[in-house]
Order: sequence, then structure tokens, then C-alpha cells
Amino acid sequence: MDDQVIRGREAQRHIVDVAQEVSSRVRTTLGPLGFDQLMVDKMGDHLLTNDGATILKMQDYRDPIAKMIVEVAKAQEDRAFDGTTTCVILLAELLRLADTLIEKGIHPNHIARGYREGLKQATESARDNSKELDPQQASVEAATTALTGKIAGDYAEKLVAMCSKAALSAKPDDVKILAMPGDTNSSLVVEGVVIMKEIAMGGMPTEAEGKILVLNEDLSPPQANISLNDPSKIAEIAKVQTEYLNERLSYIKDLDVSAVFCQKNIDTRAQQFFRKEGIAAFKQVRKSDIYRIAEVTGSNTVTDLATIGDDDLGIGSVKFVKAKPNAYTTIEGPKKGSVSIILYAQTEQAASEIMRALDDAVGVSWLVATHPKMVAGAGAIQNIMAQTIIGTKPTLDSKAEAAKSMFAEALLLIPRTLAESAGMDIMDTMQTLSTKMGAGVNALESKVEEMNVMEPLEVVVSAMNAAVENVIALLRTDAIIKSKSFQEVFSSEMGFD
Ligand code: ADP
Ligand code: MG
Repeated sequence: MDDQVIRGREAQRHIVDVAQEVSSRVRTTLGPLGFDQLMVDKMGDHLLTNDGATILKMQDYRDPIAKMIVEVAKAQEDRAFDGTTTCVILLAELLRLADTLIEKGIHPNHIARGYREGLKQATESARDNSKELDPQQASVEAATTALTGKIAGDYAEKLVAMCSKAALSAKPDDVKILAMPGDTNSSLVVEGVVIMKEIAMGGMPTEAEGKILVLNEDLSPPQANISLNDPSKIAEIAKVQTEYLNERLSYIKDLDVSAVFCQKNIDTRAQQFFRKEGIAAFKQVRKSDIYRIAEVTGSNTVTDLATIGDDDLGIGSVKFVKAKPNAYTTIEGPKKGSVSIILYAQTEQAASEIMRALDDAVGVSWLVATHPKMVAGAGAIQNIMAQTIIGTKPTLDSKAEAAKSMFAEALLLIPRTLAESAGMDIMDTMQTLSTKMGAGVNALESKVEEMNVMEPLEVVVSAMNAAVENVIALLRTDAIIKSKSFQEVFSSEMGFD
């Protein structure tokens, strides 16, 4: 897009072209046999991924339409944790088909009505064909589908079980994944908080049970901010400092605390004190971890030890695990709803790819544990929805009906793309699907049959909704105005380039 303003038909064609271009970037990654893509940035860093949302987020798009489509994908990910590729290719297909109708003289308003009606019928059909599972089973099914094609098969079972366990105990935002080098099959889910921290000093207890203090105060003596020449003054000040520190430490001792998590520093003298008293202490704990520890143990974050009372303390059990190469500490408490996943992976690259996949899978698992309605995946539900629309008596005027049929056709792009990635014969596949309601594309065995792949109803419906609403907004756009970037203006005035 080089012109500053494009209008009317030209703007519409531009939108369709850009959507096709964005869609083609991710289309080949759909499904279990989707291809991986190697992303390389300007710095030469690279990333091998199969995740549509990741690929789109990493594109350096300048075009406003492309940027908008990437936002749609991100919104789908935020809302439903999955179905981003589906959403984007559906959006592009709906635009492409709308364009063929516009060519025939059908106004975007008719198309909008037809698409909305198609969406309504499809959503009803998906609901009618959904099955309510029990939350545990649903979370396993959803994680399995979400991880398919993203994770090497050997670990899939382990990771699915972990996702489901995490999702049944905590909201996705409260599931923290920590990656460390090691064997993926040894990964584990811990109810509670895990921090990558060791006890502050060797000799402190490595396990503690009981009262927990969460502290945001430096456990060092106050600094004397004066220069002193008189040695007796120095000794005097040192004495005051020690007394000050001892007094503060005595508050902790009096409350019978068994573990201390301090966001700030703990001075060596204070560490020695804790060791002597058999208190496990952790220093310079990250703010976000401090917050989570306070949550699960039910502690207040204490900022001034002078005012501390028994009700500021939490309760929990703390365990320091001296695993190699990374030691960590687990904190469990009476408050549920916080989970940590310790993910072992061979390389950093593998870890980050698995982390991204887990993030989505934990999300969908949670989504279905709370909304446990599932539909048949592998393109089956899209086939059912399309056939339902085609088989429903017309209720709209002929132009809107034409658009509604196009909506049904667009849905079939999902099974068609799955077949394409699997190298199956497209004509045959689509022909068989049209006679077999309920069948899906068995990409792994190149067959069309009823399959045991389940997908959350919410993911499917949300992807369609987002696609339709954004397509309608884009069909109403008849001018794209490109403003200069501040950077362009700035650098040309400076005489660079
Ligand atoms: P998205 O970003 O849209 O979630 P995916 O690459 O995860 O894209 O692919 C999802 C599609 O793959 C869904 O339509 C899902 O039903 C389908 N799918 C998942 N597992 C299988 C399978 N074993 N066989 C065929 N299709 C599958
Ligand atoms: Mg997916």
C-alpha cells in the first residue's frame, strides 16, 4: 500500500488481498500435520513454531489491515486460548467470498445480513451437536486437541495430564510455568507457588512448616550517613545498628515464625540469626512471587516489623529442592487456586515452544473445565454446521441468502485445509464429507471418518464470531488512509536516509 489514500472498490480489494496474504502465512500450520515455520528476526535470533498466533505476532506488518487481523487473532487467543489460525483463515475466506458477491453487484449490507444469519444458524447447530462432559474429562480432551501438532508425541500424554491438573485447580492467570533444563517427562505440577530461590544461607532448614512471614523491609541495619573520624563514635554507631537489627529480629522470633520471604535484602548477621533459630529465610524474592506467596499462605506483606502482629502471618509448608542445575523452593498454603508447573526441556528453544503450547492448552483446559461443552473436531463440526445451513429453508431475500450460503462454504475451508496439510485428495475428501455428517478429517491416516477429537464449543463459536464481526466491519470500510509515521517525518527532517 503505497498511496496515501485508497477508496471504494480499490480499498475493498486491498482488504481482501491483505487478508489472503495474512491467512496464507498461517494456513499451512493448521491441524496435527500442519507445517512448522522458522522465524528469523533482524538480530538472527530464530524460532521454530507451529502456533498461528505466535507467527502472526512476530510478523513485522506495516499495513493497517494486516495489523488489525493480527489483533483479531490476539483477541481470540485472549478470550478462548485457542482457535487463532481457524479464526484468521475463516476471516480471510469470508472476505474473499464476499468480494465475489460484491463483484456480482451485491451490496455489503446484504452480505452482512447473510453472514449474521449464517453465524446464528451455525452457532445453534454447534450447540445442538455439543456434548457436555464432566470437567475432568473435558479438560483432558481439550488439552489433547490443543497440544496436537505442537508437541512431540512422546511428551504429549505427560503434558496433557499436567495441563488438566493445573486447569482444575487454578485460573490460567494463576498458573505459572517455570522452565528448566532437563527431561520433559520429569516435569511436574505443584499446587502452590514455586520460586527459583535457595535458602539464603546453608545450614538453614530446607523444610519448614508453620507460620510464614512475607516481608518487604530490608533486614539490614540502618546506614549511618555521616563521616566519622572518632573511633569511639564508630563503635557507638555499630552498637546502635546491631541493637536496631536485633530488636527487629526479636519481633520475628517472638512470633514463632518458621519461614521468611523477604522482597529486599537480608544482611549476613540476620541470616546467621535465622540459621541459629532454625528459620528458613529467602532474600530478594521477586515482587510477583512475594504477592503469590502472600496469597497462598494468607499473609499480609509486612513493611514495618515494628507494627507486626500474629494476624499478619500466614501459614504454609515450604520445601527447598536442591535439583540440578536449578534449585527451587515450593510453598503450599491453605488458600488454593495457585499452581506452578515445573517444565523441564532439553533446550531453551524447546522450552519456549512447549511453554507457549502449554499456556494455550492450560487456558482451553480451564475454559472447558468451567464450560464443559465439547464438539467434534477435525473439521467435523464445521461440516455439520455448513450442512445444517445449506439444509435450512431460506428466510432472507435472495441476496442475503446467497451470502448465507457463502458463509457455509467458508466453514468448509477448515476441513479442506486439514485435508490439504495432510496431502489428501481435496475433491474426494469434500465429496465424502458432504455425505457423512459427523465425520472429520483423519489427517494422520488420510481418511474421512468419525473421529475422537474433541474441541471446546466456546473456542469454535468464539472464532466464528470474531471472524464475522470483523469481516462486517471491514466490508463497511471504503477508505484506507495512511498517515505518515512520526519516525518518517522526524528522520527526513534530520536529513538522514
Ligand atoms: P488453531 O490455531 O485454529 O487452534 P491448530 O493448528 O491448533 O489451529 O488446529 C486446530 C484444528 O485442528 C482444529 O480444527 C482441530 O479440530 C483440528 N485437529 C486437532 N487434532 C486433530 C486430529 N488428530 N486430526 C484432525 N484434525 C485435528
Ligand atoms: Mg489449536
